[in-house]
Amino acid sequence: MKTNLPKYKEPEAFGKSHASMEKSKKEEQEFGPGKESIGICRDCGAMYYNKSWHHNLRNYKQLDEDKKVNFFICPACKMIGDQKFEGQAILENVPENLLSEAVRNIENTGERAYKRDPMDRIIKIKKQKSKTEGTWNVEVLATENQLARNIARQIEKAFKGSGSNVKWSRNESTARIVVRFI
Ligand SMILES: [Zn+2]
Repeated sequence: MKTNLPKYKEPEAFGKSHASMEKSKKEEQEFGPGKESIGICRDCGAMYYNKSWHHNLRNYKQLDEDKKVNFFICPACKMIGDQKFEGQAILENVPENLLSEAVRNIENTGERAYKRDPMDRIIKIKKQKSKTEGTWNVEVLATENQLARNIARQIEKAFKGSGSNVKWSRNESTARIVVRFI
């Protein structure tokens, strides 16, 4: 069965280059351009240097020099602490027999994103029985709207033929993507 791909065209703002540009601009505002020191999140251990986030110091070029280290709470940990999110992916009417596979797919996308960028994280995966007998709704909250979009996309790809349908909507900084199975 052919999936019902969205007719909706992605707005420019969703383009990868634009989004990452926005992201680095945002980080520069938050942490100041060209800072020599290393920032370490006291919650998750993520490190900020060379104007971006890292899991460790492997990419730090001048480690032989003394560097100032600042401890603080990174934006992702802060967002989680404040119970906020930037991206929301909703899977509607997931048949019970596909539920664990769908959740695994979401977790895998989340892990890949986190490996690439410590600020990209799944905050919460919430499963709830839906009104349609034998199906579930799954709500995923993420720290980045790009991640929510990617989660929806991977689900769409993996469950072709389940009749999924992606709807995009966006208000200011948060994105909500719905994938409907039945
Ligand atoms: Zn952190």
